[in-house]
Amino acid sequence: MPVSESMVQDIVKEVVARMQLSGNAGTAQHGVFTDMNQAIEAAKEAEAKVRCMTMDQREQIVSNIRRKTHENAELLARMGVEETGMGNVGDKILKHHLLADKTPGTEDITTTAWSGDRGLTLIEMGPFGVIGAITPCTNPSETVLCNSMGMIAAGNTVVFNPHPQAIKTSIFAINMVNEASLEAGGPDNVACTVTRPTLETSNIMMKHKDIPLIAATGGPGVVTAVLSSGKRGIGAGAGNPPALVDETADVRKAAADIVNGCTFDNNLPCIAEKEIVAVDSVADELMNYMISEQGCYLISKEEQDKLTATVITPKGLNRKCVGRDARTLLSMIGIQAPENIRCIVFEGEKEHPLIAEELMMPILGLVRAKDFDDAVEKAVWLEHGNRHSAHIHSKNVDNITKYAKAIDTAILVKNAPSYAALGFGGEGFCTFTIASRTGEGLTSASTFTKRRRCVMSDSLCIR
Ligand code: NAD
Repeated sequence: MPVSESMVQDIVKEVVARMQLSGNAGTAQHGVFTDMNQAIEAAKEAEAKVRCMTMDQREQIVSNIRRKTHENAELLARMGVEETGMGNVGDKILKHHLLADKTPGTEDITTTAWSGDRGLTLIEMGPFGVIGAITPCTNPSETVLCNSMGMIAAGNTVVFNPHPQAIKTSIFAINMVNEASLEAGGPDNVACTVTRPTLETSNIMMKHKDIPLIAATGGPGVVTAVLSSGKRGIGAGAGNPPALVDETADVRKAAADIVNGCTFDNNLPCIAEKEIVAVDSVADELMNYMISEQGCYLISKEEQDKLTATVITPKGLNRKCVGRDARTLLSMIGIQAPENIRCIVFEGEKEHPLIAEELMMPILGLVRAKDFDDAVEKAVWLEHGNRHSAHIHSKNVDNITKYAKAIDTAILVKNAPSYAALGFGGEGFCTFTIASRTGEGLTSASTFTKRRRCVMSDSLCIR
């Protein structure tokens, strides 16, 4: 029977209502507790059981998470958009299928060996134990599922302190992970959380003796908090990725790639193009293609001022604008844009607040550079030393190399939309936790392991 839009909406309402009911009644879903200490204790008990499982059994849990993510991709996407008000359902569905297909499992856990006259030495990737994970509202279930797959594949269990704005969606994903474990003959509570995550529950987690490692995915505040906790921290922080276009680029394709990347899930991904730096000789052509072929709406100086005042408040980013589509943003400043409009564009100086700030909205300011060196300097300034992501459209390998060295980011996409970095239209695996601050880069199961040297002296060398 074909599933209609209204049927899916009814299912979402039903699931959300049931979760609200269970939260109020205190009868938690799998892995959900009212108290953070209890959540950690349960994850610790589960970890003792996971430690005794074979790699094959761990892989079976990961494989069940993949299947369940595919099955629930639309539901998770709709829940995420409904609960946070951010992003768009179609792209979120794609993100869930992508992570289900391309997040590494146990194959990522490898061994290094030396053998010789004095025996055999191995470096094994062992689990840490119970990992604390803090997740954002921008990719809520994506991050929970991706973190869980990598952490469990590596032999850990995980306690989440999700963003409060996305708690229902996160709980749904955490419940799914536990069901996947139970169906594989594994324990319950391989992923745990609390019904009401707060800064206090986060602090309990950061200080807890049974949490040896914390993985934080979010803005600068949370990464700094984790790195000040005295624990080992994996810091996946904010970015402000520039897309540089030089005179050798296929300008028409660059316009399409940049707008496709920028508008994906309404610009929520931290890797997405947040501004353009174009050399003078191609800047006008690029802007023309974006407007005439890519659904971009050019705003005047007066409209830029109105949009700035709407989007950036004295207290910071207006949360009502984050992850909204271009037409909604334009309507907030009194512009009724045609249906094909998917991105807002303008030209400005690099210091323009709509260009310098990480907005997470489909707004692309174009900064004009007099030549390539000037463009590199401006792009490096705009990335603010986050060393997160940057993109370039160029056919000149010397230019690409120069830019890559200067900007020094965890991700650099050449001649493609930013999402190619996540394996979407590009090679490589997927993750939603890009450890830009602490240098692990794109995280996977091996990131959540510790290196253990195992030495057999004078034996087991059979060469
Ligand atoms: P956010 O920083 O507001 O929240 C992220 C998480 O941190 C939430 O769970 C929040 O409750 C928690 N948090 C915030 N401040 C904290 C503190 N001082 N102590 C403890 N916990 C704290 O971010 P968001 O709006 O949910 O997500 C968007 C931000 O995350 C953007 O800056 C984006 O670039 C970044 N991000 C980075 C990655 C990456 O992989 N590097 C991925 C997704 C999002």
